[in-house]
Amino acid sequence: MILTQSIQEMQNLAGQMRMEGQQIGFVPTMGALHKGHLNLIERARQGNDKVVCSIFVNPIQFNNPDDLKNYPRTFERDIELLKPLGCDVVFHPDAAEMYPQKPDQKYDFGLLDKVMEGRYREGHFNGVAIVVKKLFDIVQPHRAYFGQKDFQQLAVIQALVKQEDIPVDIVPCPTVREEDGLAMSSRNVRLSAEERKNAPLIYQSLHKASQMYTRSAAGVEEIKQWVSETINHNPFMELEYFEISNPDTLAPVQGDKPTTPVVACIAVQVGSVRLIDNILFNS
Ligand code: AMP
Repeated sequence: MILTQSIQEMQNLAGQMRMEGQQIGFVPTMGALHKGHLNLIERARQGNDKVVCSIFVNPIQFNNPDDLKNYPRTFERDIELLKPLGCDVVFHPDAAEMYPQKPDQKYDFGLLDKVMEGRYREGHFNGVAIVVKKLFDIVQPHRAYFGQKDFQQLAVIQALVKQEDIPVDIVPCPTVREEDGLAMSSRNVRLSAEERKNAPLIYQSLHKASQMYTRSAAGVEEIKQWVSETINHNPFMELEYFEISNPDTLAPVQGDKPTTPVVACIAVQVGSVRLIDNILFNS
């Protein structure tokens, strides 16, 4: 497994792979790897000749300086986890390498980057789009693997690829969960023991909301009210948002419940840790 921090070296390696006719699968991450990330690597391994993983905690997608400062960094351990999976290259630039100048691109993805995470984390998706575009330019992947755990991010990246005519296939991969249902996240290690014990309530609420939606007469507003009360009733949690939306446009569902697929997305502050999750219904 080759490790490089250099854009130039990464470009050379990717260029060589392409010249040899090899298909490149790419998994961008911010490190602090867990089974959710490793599943993306395994899928990339199955579908390509070469696998590149990037580890870069992208400062420009953090709207909260404390979140950036406290984001877990476990580089040595990450490398040990990647080695047995047959990852070929780990690209781990620092911020000076990625952003010698402050980037000033401004993307607009319509509603996709304005609602939910876009509303509560200003500038977040612009930072994500800038780094993903730059990583794609450097790594030149045939396929790139993203988790449905970050449903809105996936929608934004699909829009980015379309808008910028980037020749890469975006491969969505299902959310990997702990046994108790909590979606795996690098941020979970920052939960206290008590918070961790309570955190499965997030997925339990999503699951119950999906049952209310599909199997009861409850309307969208009633379900939203129930989720809000359930989360806020827990002493460790505060609901930031819960939305039931069209999975393609992310427009909130209002009025009658459609029988076509919808996605329910949630963000919850658990102590000092902000967690997100989502579930698809009717699909
Ligand atoms: P991150 O390191 O959090 O930026 O995530 C890197 C990639 O891993 C993104 O495509 C995420 O959606 C994906 N990912 C993170 N957590 C999970 C999970 N629990 N299941 C599946 N994919 C995940």
